[in-house]
Amino acid sequence: MGGDVESKPKVAVIGGGAAGFFGAIELASSGAVSVTLLEKGKNFLSKVRISGGGRCNVTHHCLDPEPLSKHYPRGERELRWAFETFGPRDTIRWYEERGVLLKTEADGRMFPVTDSSETILEVLFREAKRNGVRLKTETEIHSITPIPSPQGHSNFRVQLKSGEILEYSKIIFATGSGRKAWGWLQALGHTISDPVPSLFTFKISDPRIEDLAGLSFERTLCSLSDFGYTQEGPLLVTHWGLSGPAILKLSAKGARELHEAEYSTFLKIDFVPAYSREEIRKTIDTEKEIHPAKSVRNTPLFGIPKRYWERILESDPTTFSKTWAGFSSKDTHFLIEELKNAKFQISGKGEFKDEFVTCGGVSRKEVSFKTMESKVVPGIHFAGEVLDVDGVTGGFNFQNAWTTSYIAARGILAAIQKGQGSG
Ligand SMILES: Cc1cc2nc3c(=O)[nH]c(=O)nc-3n(C[C@H](O)[C@H](O)[C@H](O)COP(=O)(O)OP(=O)(O)OC[C@H]3O[C@@H](n4cnc5c(N)ncnc54)[C@H](O)[C@@H]3O)c2cc1C
Repeated sequence: MGGDVESKPKVAVIGGGAAGFFGAIELASSGAVSVTLLEKGKNFLSKVRISGGGRCNVTHHCLDPEPLSKHYPRGERELRWAFETFGPRDTIRWYEERGVLLKTEADGRMFPVTDSSETILEVLFREAKRNGVRLKTETEIHSITPIPSPQGHSNFRVQLKSGEILEYSKIIFATGSGRKAWGWLQALGHTISDPVPSLFTFKISDPRIEDLAGLSFERTLCSLSDFGYTQEGPLLVTHWGLSGPAILKLSAKGARELHEAEYSTFLKIDFVPAYSREEIRKTIDTEKEIHPAKSVRNTPLFGIPKRYWERILESDPTTFSKTWAGFSSKDTHFLIEELKNAKFQISGKGEFKDEFVTCGGVSRKEVSFKTMESKVVPGIHFAGEVLDVDGVTGGFNFQNAWTTSYIAARGILAAIQKGQGSG
């Protein structure tokens, strides 16, 4: 590292989560700045510890920036370019070079081979210490004041709750969905899009799914047609209603509209996206011809689990006990609608314990994604969930944290090299 720590420009990273740690390490490893990581809580990296059900879904094996960026309902355009600078490939390499191997699961999610988030915590702590990051927990900030320098660049006076006053050349805000920090940022002139929850399950009370918790459908097409959002993917019946990748991704896409509608709207499900209505009709006609005496309820078609097939038929008592011979064209129409366009009333928001994020935060328009620097207060940079950026479930939210904090660190180092804010 070399050089006298005290003579180096000082950078504060506020927030000791994934983004704060990664940014602080990147800054400190340059040897060019003195870095202090300030965390208001008792512990660093609390979310990383509990993430991915304790396994930490570090990133996603979607290596091309274009399709990768499509997994971000908010931030797609900006991250598309940011991923060119630091994407999942770089994340994989970064961890690998530090002895942490990642594995890819069938759905593309990547976890440490140890299947333990502790592995990620250990490497982040080790790297922070090795590179000389000053780690301070239980350090709450009271205020932040920019002090314009004679060269026209801002330095910052940071007053801690304890009364201590510290000065920094640059600041990375990596405060996640911390409301207080959004309050200061607003006071400094930033626009904060209203924070609302993202990534949740749908509460649905409907006789078609009652007592079927655990039942899953491999491929469905789910829509929030009132808001124009559609998502393909597996679906899972829970005790509360519906979950699974299709629902969680849909909740992220429609997070804002669902919040405004107080989580009351209709969900439409195509349980058989691989079949057109015409194909379904033909298959039913064939059944009627070949198996006229067979009971419809005992002949589930199109890969629909038998228990759900029966529920569909139960919802119209006249069809339940019919044989194929007695299945009328009205019954066929009813079955096609239930398979292709089943309507469920969403009555609320459930929980998803493996991952949860907030959509909303610092307006993307006020940030240069080339450096993550604020366009409102130069010298302040942003990383992670503090921004109005969020991804669907699958490791995308951590990738946002790694990418934006890397770029923020690089942006600060480049500015300091140019002599901006080095005083
Ligand atoms: C249960 C759960 C599981 C998840 N699992 C996954 C997963 O497997 N994969 C994935 O990609 N994403 C996952 N996520 C989402 C992911 O954890 C977040 O997107 C990510 O942690 C955001 O990182 P961050 O550093 O921006 O914010 P955070 O991790 O929230 O860190 C912000 C830090 O700043 C501190 N802070 C806030 N305000 C202040 C202040 N005023 N002064 C000082 N410090 C402050 C906070 O205490 C906190 O430690 C999960 C989320 C949850 C809740």
